Amino acid sequence: MQFQELNLSQPILKAIAQLGFTEMTPIQEKTIPLLLEGKDVIGKSNTGTGKTAAFSIPILEQMQPEDSDHVCALILCPTRELAMQACDEIRKFARYKKHIRPAAVYGGASMDRQIYQLKNGANLVVGTPGRVLDHLHRRTLKLDQLKTIVLDEADEMLNMGFREDIESVLAQIPVQRQTVLFSATMPPAILAITNQYQHEPVLVEIQSAHRTVDTIAQYCVSVPMGRKTDALHLLLLAHKPNSAMIFCNTKKMVDELTEVLCQRGFPAVGLHGDMKQLQRTQVMNGFKSGRNTILIATDVAARGIDVKGVDAVFNYDLPQDHEYYIHRIGRTGRAGKTGTAFNIVSGRKQEIEMRVISQYTKAEITEIPVPTAKELRSMAVEQEREKLLALTQTTPSVEAVQLANMLLEQADAQTMLTALITQQLDIAMKDLPTFDVPRPIRKGRKTGAKTVRVRINAGRKDRMAPNFILGALVEATGMSGSDFGKIDIHDQYTTVEVPAAESDFVIDAMHGSKINGKAVAVRQYDERGDKPKRESGGRPHQRRSSRHGYTQKPRTGSYNRKRRKG
Ligand code: ADP
Ligand code: MG
Repeated sequence: MQFQELNLSQPILKAIAQLGFTEMTPIQEKTIPLLLEGKDVIGKSNTGTGKTAAFSIPILEQMQPEDSDHVCALILCPTRELAMQACDEIRKFARYKKHIRPAAVYGGASMDRQIYQLKNGANLVVGTPGRVLDHLHRRTLKLDQLKTIVLDEADEMLNMGFREDIESVLAQIPVQRQTVLFSATMPPAILAITNQYQHEPVLVEIQSAHRTVDTIAQYCVSVPMGRKTDALHLLLLAHKPNSAMIFCNTKKMVDELTEVLCQRGFPAVGLHGDMKQLQRTQVMNGFKSGRNTILIATDVAARGIDVKGVDAVFNYDLPQDHEYYIHRIGRTGRAGKTGTAFNIVSGRKQEIEMRVISQYTKAEITEIPVPTAKELRSMAVEQEREKLLALTQTTPSVEAVQLANMLLEQADAQTMLTALITQQLDIAMKDLPTFDVPRPIRKGRKTGAKTVRVRINAGRKDRMAPNFILGALVEATGMSGSDFGKIDIHDQYTTVEVPAAESDFVIDAMHGSKINGKAVAVRQYDERGDKPKRESGGRPHQRRSSRHGYTQKPRTGSYNRKRRKG
């Protein structure tokens, strides 16, 4: 059925046509008429089947100029990327309905800008549950005249632990409303929400198309922060793919990783959108011809690339969009062949993300450890055996025979061969990163182990508070709040007591972190050199983590989720 056949107003039809949409997707065909009637709907359909248009077109169609001074519709999405994406798409559909002013609100972005948008007439809000709730608490978002609420990707929101936040939002909106829920899967938790908050909902279920990832073995390797490259190095050695693609999320990461892998002796090339066409063609030819066996790329650069015989795909960064996961790993296991996909994750956030992806793709992703030095060594032994046996088949040179005879007069063959093999193995194992020494203690402080202080270059001047700092530490390290000791906030910097055995790890894990929106640098606190000169502003703020409720884990990416001013 075509969009034209729906009884939609001209501005909407024109925008749809301009986007090049003619036929509706099955979920659109089934849900749009119900939503236009004002029914509560549960829509189940795979990602990429046009759910955004399915719920936004009816909302936009029904929003009249006379409702333009208040928020009429709220769409909750699990992540900021999805919220931004949905908002962008909605803007396109609303192009010819000028009174509609969409706004996206999500964590990790400036509050001020969002408040400005909300104050200046936003009447359709797309947001993540935590931030929406935050705005409700601040009274910068008012939903007393809300007509429609959409829970988009509801299953993912629940997976990400947003249940309470969602319920809290639902409790604060008018009872007379349309409640719409879209999800790719229907776990029981969703049905519970449905029962409680929807009014005689109609279930629309579109059978999922067959996914072709069954022939791909999928693995996940979880490593400490800052050790992904080392893990990748070992995985490449252990699995020796003839041809591999490695995906990163940014161009910068592609460049950096290509450089490091080349330094470590891998025939790697990078591909991303900033490269000139000629360069890209060269890279692709090198990879297709097998000269370079490792291609490191961003999603955009790799789109549409069809290379046969890629036997492993590595996700150095997990894709931000789940559909990309399927695209990425689909590079391997083509044309009836089997393939392997490795995901490298570090930190709690990425581990959760991995779980979400596995549920979404319905794939079994097996967690495996990083290859150990022992495993790599026995592989090296096997390779040495094969190599030496193959060498015995070659015809030796005269000099070699002479030298061998001469040496055999001075030492026996076994001693010499053993020495030679030992040397070769040492070369093979030289400079290999290792994960064999696990981080020893987690609960260092509690067990009375030695602590040291680390210094963070942000303090009272940057409006740091202990809970922001602790939240960031917990998030980055995966340690628990009680593993950290005293937090002293000075004007310009902060010190935190950490278990001595963990301090390097903490510093490493915090690399590139932001606290309260500020990019911070963390280093060892130099107990002598760093002694504070008398600072103005009184005594430093102190706390013992066990006394206050700061040990609570913060939600993803929003350390600055202050509920109240203060
Ligand atoms: P979902 O939310 O189900 O994952 P999206 O709403 O993100 O899917 O849509 C996936 C893609 O399909 C988007 O690029 C969207 O613009 C496009 N799309 C949606 N509906 C149609 C349609 N009827 N015809 C053509 N393209 C469509
Ligand atoms: Mg969607």
